[in-house]
Amino acid sequence: QTGANDLQTKADRLVQMSICASLARKFPKVTIIGEEELPADEVTEELIEDGHCEEILKKTCPAQYTGIKEEELVIWVDPLDGTKEYTEGLLDHVTVLIGIAYGGKAIAGVINQPYYNYEAGADVVLGRTIWGVVGIGAFGFQLTEVPAGKHIIITTRSHSSTLVNDCISALNPDSVIRVGGAGNKIIQLIEGKASAYVFASPGCKKWDTCAPEAILHAVGGKITDIHGNSFQYNKEVKHMNSAGVLATLRNYDYYASRIPNTVKQSLVP
Ligand code: AMP
Ligand code: MG
Ligand code: MG
Repeated sequence: QTGANDLQTKADRLVQMSICASLARKFPKVTIIGEEELPADEVTEELIEDGHCEEILKKTCPAQYTGIKEEELVIWVDPLDGTKEYTEGLLDHVTVLIGIAYGGKAIAGVINQPYYNYEAGADVVLGRTIWGVVGIGAFGFQLTEVPAGKHIIITTRSHSSTLVNDCISALNPDSVIRVGGAGNKIIQLIEGKASAYVFASPGCKKWDTCAPEAILHAVGGKITDIHGNSFQYNKEVKHMNSAGVLATLRNYDYYASRIPNTVKQSLVP
């Protein structure tokens, strides 16, 4: 544990070791940046994943990516997003995020939801994987829009502040959903449960937004900070998204144009 607001469990450490060591073995030249600070121990063989996904390999690589060199990629890993909720037993808030960036832009992402359907009984498959590539699309879920004219805001459950709540109030939504995880909130946007993810606070990091951003952009959505600046994912970038998050599947401008100036002035990029 690194603090009450910033928990780290054994699951976070083991999942990150598995993902980062497996990727590094297959792609030794990519830069991999994970959330957790880990001891530089040798990773045991049982943590190494060596499989691949046939479905992805069947897709045609968009022309703009065919010349990419391995060393030009940066992979952002959040081994367990929604740790606070995980420790409280809200298992469906938890996701595993792997985002791939090229030229500072999020171009591909995986959101694995290990406990999807955990309350649905024994005959359903537990867990699912949503993935997307900008220029190809996103898969593993049913793209759904919120009914026209409904304004449903989704935001943090465990990292609220006066500013977070004031910003939401100013947008005058029909309802507000408070759940854990950046990955989980993006899933709610692309499945038509919420119209805008609004988080007027620092706290979210690049590994929280890279994979969600690629998937959201792959289906025509948009994610920026509260000022409307896009996020950068090159390896030298500051990890913290200091100026918050604003994301939508549709109607981005409706929400962006209603963020109060007082809120913007409180959040320095
Ligand atoms: P939340 O919406 O609260 O689940 O936050 C989304 C992501 O940002 C999670 O990975 C959180 O751990 C992280 N996060 C947001 N706010 C904070 C904060 N105040 N301190 C530490 N982590 C935060
Ligand atoms: Mg996270
Ligand atoms: Mg995490």
